[in-house]
Formats: sequence, structure tokens, C-alpha cells
Amino acid sequence: MAKLYSILIGALILGLSLTGYSQRNCGTTNYTAHQIQKDPSLAKTFKNQELKIKHWIDNSKGDDEIIYIPVIFHVLYKSTVTNISDAQIYSQIDILNADYSRQNLDTTDTPSEFKILGADTRIQFCVAHQTPTGNWTDGITRTSTTKTTFDMSANEAKFDSKGGIDAWNTEKYLNIWIVPEIIDGGVSGILGYAQFPGGALATDGVVVGYNYIGNIGAASYPFNKGRTLTHEIGHYLNLYHIWGDDFGACTGTDQVEDTPNQASKNFGCPAHPHASCSNDGDMFQNYMDYTNDACMNLFTIGQKERMLAAINTSRATLKTSGVCQANYISKQKNIQFNISPNPANNYIKINLSEANNTEIQVLDITAKVIIKEFSNNKTIIINTSELPNGIYFLQLKSDTKTGIQKFIIQQ
Ligand SMILES: [Zn+2]
Repeated sequence: MAKLYSILIGALILGLSLTGYSQRNCGTTNYTAHQIQKDPSLAKTFKNQELKIKHWIDNSKGDDEIIYIPVIFHVLYKSTVTNISDAQIYSQIDILNADYSRQNLDTTDTPSEFKILGADTRIQFCVAHQTPTGNWTDGITRTSTTKTTFDMSANEAKFDSKGGIDAWNTEKYLNIWIVPEIIDGGVSGILGYAQFPGGALATDGVVVGYNYIGNIGAASYPFNKGRTLTHEIGHYLNLYHIWGDDFGACTGTDQVEDTPNQASKNFGCPAHPHASCSNDGDMFQNYMDYTNDACMNLFTIGQKERMLAAINTSRATLKTSGVCQANYISKQKNIQFNISPNPANNYIKINLSEANNTEIQVLDITAKVIIKEFSNNKTIIINTSELPNGIYFLQLKSDTKTGIQKFIIQQ
């Protein structure tokens, strides 16, 4: 019997090492338990917050303004692999903005009975363009580290003194730390974790593995569509897991009325309907379940209300932070340019609003740099006749500005 166990355990370890982590594992529930253990008064804070949220929702006037949340990304890298590209990071912003406004292309996969519940949350994300001291930033800090793993409960990613990097003012920025790997007490396999509103300011934000961000570059299947951050930022805005974290008891709640009562987490891509707790089908397409990126496609109206309540009661300073504007591509301090023709074949022409020792990079869909040139001209022609058909990114950088746009090659 012991022999059989060791064979089974060996097979399990081998399976993990061969396939990576094929099941979603979010650290937020354990992280929150750790935080409450360290500071028991947090339990009361969270309880009070529930009352404030309920009060806000009951009195909400249905204001439909779009709220912009400024984001600063902190890349903590050990190697060129973990020092992921700007393009991979910016692809995450596009995904968040699509998912949170229900502009994601896979809304067609939402089952018909849930479609009516799918919400444009009116929450959008912008890349920070001001540092805490008022200097310009492209919204990304990069810090070389000797660490390959960052412990979750010790919040190692979030402090210079622990081998990470200190948060930028968490009342003005949503801090997102991108790390080689998250561990919890030595155990691997956590994709990301978030801090609920009400926790310590110094540790506020989200931590995510470098291979679970965006949809290009190092983003790895089945978590290569950026939904890990869609999920974690849901927690940051006070959403619970859709099954209510009750280990299958059907008695827990996510505090949202329009999500079905669901027994436990769903993994992979189940067939719909997958019923539990006497429901007609779990809403495993919800971003707050544990399914693969490709199988998630909605927040509900109830979740939208809860997130807006969290912002307006606990994170209101983000709304007036002013460290970025809505559209990072057209931001004043970004390089203004257009690409023509698009789609293109033999060449692309770049028209710049000003000439200023510009570095030009063409990146492929995996964020690999294919062409790199420098120019002092306002009009730049790039030969693309050798490029295979596909989607590419053109990234421009000058001393103080940057910009990125997508273009298509059709030979
Ligand atoms: Zn989670």
C-alpha cells in the first residue's frame, strides 16, 4: 500500500513538473486569513465594510460615470524570461478594460440564461504616467532581484527590505507586483493574490506571476488570456469567490444576489450546465470562479454594484488620484503617431507629431523584438516585406515619451 502511495505521489509530482499548473489557484482567501490572524481587528473592519457596501447599494442613484483606476506595474525579475515586455504588460490593460466593460470578444460564450446578468461595470484602468514625485513614467517599474520566489503571507514582493519593491501611494495607485513565482509557506502553484479593501495601506494591491499576465509573450496556457488579473482585481474591489468559499457546503455566500448558489470551485472548462446546491447550473463562466481563462467571460450586475460600492466607500481616493488619464496611447506625454497602411504588406509608414531621436521596435505577437531602428525624422518608413502575416506591435520610445500600437501584416 505504501508503495502504491509513493508511486501515486511520484506521478502527481511528475505531472505537475511536466505540465506546470493546469488548475487555477488564487491565494486571496488564504492571504486574507493570514492577515486577520496577524491583526484580528481586520475581521471587524471587513464586517463594517459589508454594512457600508449594503448602505451604498441601497442608496445608489444609478450614476453611470466611468471610473478610471490608475495602475502601476512593478516587475521583479530574476532573468530575461521573467523581465516581461512592455507589450505583454500593456496587453493586460486592454484585457481588463474589455472584461470590465463587457467588450470582451467571448461574451458570445455566456449561456443565454446568464447573458441578461452580464454587466458593463463602468470601471476602467489606465496606466499611471506620473511617479509619486511627479516625474513621467510609462507605468512600469523594473527591479532586478536575486529571489526566484516571493512568499505570500510575508508579502515579500511589497517591500524593498524583503527583496521586493515598496508600494507607490496605494491611495492613488493600484499597485500590481509581477514576480517570478508566488509561494505560501514553501508551497508553489499560486497564480496571484489580492488584498481586500480595508487592509494595511503598505501592502495594498495585487501580486501575480509573470506568466499569468496579458495574452502575449510569457503568458502561459491555460492562463494566457489575462483573466488572472481580472479575477484578482475583482477581490481588490471586494468581490468574493462565486461559490462563497464554504468548501462545498452550499451555506456560504459571495454576498451577491444574482449569482447562483454554487457548491465549490470549478476547474478547467466544464460542460454547461454543471449543477450544484439545487441550482440550474453553476455560473462557472464568472471571472470569480476557478475555470480556465478561455472559459470565463462575465461579471454580473450584482458584482458590478458591489465593486462600485467598494470604490465609493473604501477606495474613493483612486477616483481623484489624477496620476493618469483615460487613454494611455493618446496621453499627452505619450508619443503621438499613426501607422499606415494598416493592414500593410511591404512597408509601414509612421507619422510622428514630433521628431526626437526615436527608438522604433517592431514586436511580434510573442513580444519578441523583430526590428529595431533609430530615427530623427517625423516620417519613418519600415520595410515589412519579410514579415509573415499576423499581428504586430510598433513600440516607440524617446527620452521622455513612449507609445505602442498594434498593426497587421497581410502579404
Ligand atoms: Zn480568487
